[in-house]
Amino acid sequence: MLNKKSVDDINVKGKKVLVRCDFNVPLQDGKITDENRLVAALPTIKKLIADGGKVILCSHLGKPKGEPKPELSLAPVATRLSELLGQEVKFAADDNVVGDNAKAAVVAMNDGDVILLENTRYRAEETKNGEAFSKELASLAEVFVNDAFGTAHRAHCSNVGVTQYVDTAVVGYLMQKEIDFLGNAVNNPERPFVAILGGSKVSSKISVINNLLDKVDTLIIGGGMAYTFAKAQGKEVGTSLLEEDYIDYANEMVEKAKEKGVKLLLPVDTKVAKEFANDAPSRIVEGSMDADEMGMDIGPKTAAMYAEAVKDAKTVVWNGPMGVFEMSNFADGTKAVAKALADTDATTIIGGGDSAAAVNILGFGDKMTHISTGGGASLEFLEGKELPGVVAANDK
Ligand code: AMP
Repeated sequence: MLNKKSVDDINVKGKKVLVRCDFNVPLQDGKITDENRLVAALPTIKKLIADGGKVILCSHLGKPKGEPKPELSLAPVATRLSELLGQEVKFAADDNVVGDNAKAAVVAMNDGDVILLENTRYRAEETKNGEAFSKELASLAEVFVNDAFGTAHRAHCSNVGVTQYVDTAVVGYLMQKEIDFLGNAVNNPERPFVAILGGSKVSSKISVINNLLDKVDTLIIGGGMAYTFAKAQGKEVGTSLLEEDYIDYANEMVEKAKEKGVKLLLPVDTKVAKEFANDAPSRIVEGSMDADEMGMDIGPKTAAMYAEAVKDAKTVVWNGPMGVFEMSNFADGTKAVAKALADTDATTIIGGGDSAAAVNILGFGDKMTHISTGGGASLEFLEGKELPGVVAANDK
């Protein structure tokens, strides 16, 4: 359980509260195309308003790389947040984030007012956790609330540096929820505990595989990274994604699973094509592929086996698609796993990024117990790492 102070442990009446949110939403022509992250931030913001705080919101958006980029301004977020909250969110349009507009807006605030600062990554120091910008941010408020799980695995000014210069630093409801779900699942799971890992690369999920083998009853591997395992087991994988440098590692993981008594499930059939294209002719292969074929998705036998493996689970964590789900002809494996998760009674936790997108696109979003808002952050959590953004908050 999270041992950090939260917004429930403080009294913000009449105080200026700087809240680091994750408003890193997708934008198209200035319009927000997915507002999940805004909606997810509302409980904390509403609580602080109700308690009579002066609420100063900040966030990054995209990668402006340390300079103002009008197309990455948070202005559209202020507009939409005003609608969602039913009260004005005043936008402080300073290219240097903490500038004259922000300072004047803060001075003019009444209890329960809300303002939003400009994109914190307009400042080059932000991602370097620089002291000067951390102090500037801290100078706006007495209390700091971190509710940005999506950046919790990074030490930046607006989530870590700033905590050194305020009296009180706590976490918000979203952060607390993420840590409670992911933390409970990994450290105190109801068993059987099944983890499903997919996506493109073994190398990006090495530590996750290693850490989870110490915790789970069953580990299921799919997606592009399954081919390194297949190769390790002596199968030919044609032109599939393959990380030669990780073949030994894959073997070690197979050994580790045996030692730990963990059931490690690997694909028994694969949907292959000769081209990386949705309309490429495909076939199902058991065993070795031809030299000019690449694995695009798990096959139907594998999908059925994986669905069966989660049926009686009590906890399931899933990170990474089973195939190239962005192409409809190679989305069946990912769909089958998503459906199996939707149908089980287990606590189901989707670890952000592509898997969250896949579950939502395929229409199973509301059937999952928890869909993390942080891809990289949830992955590092599953690796067993401490997240700097969480560590920086005050202990209870
Ligand atoms: P990751 O960011 O590592 O979770 O990888 C997600 C990406 O893996 C998605 O864009 C998928 O299209 C891709 N992916 C999954 N399976 C395969 C595969 N068999 N071949 C190539 N890419 C894949």
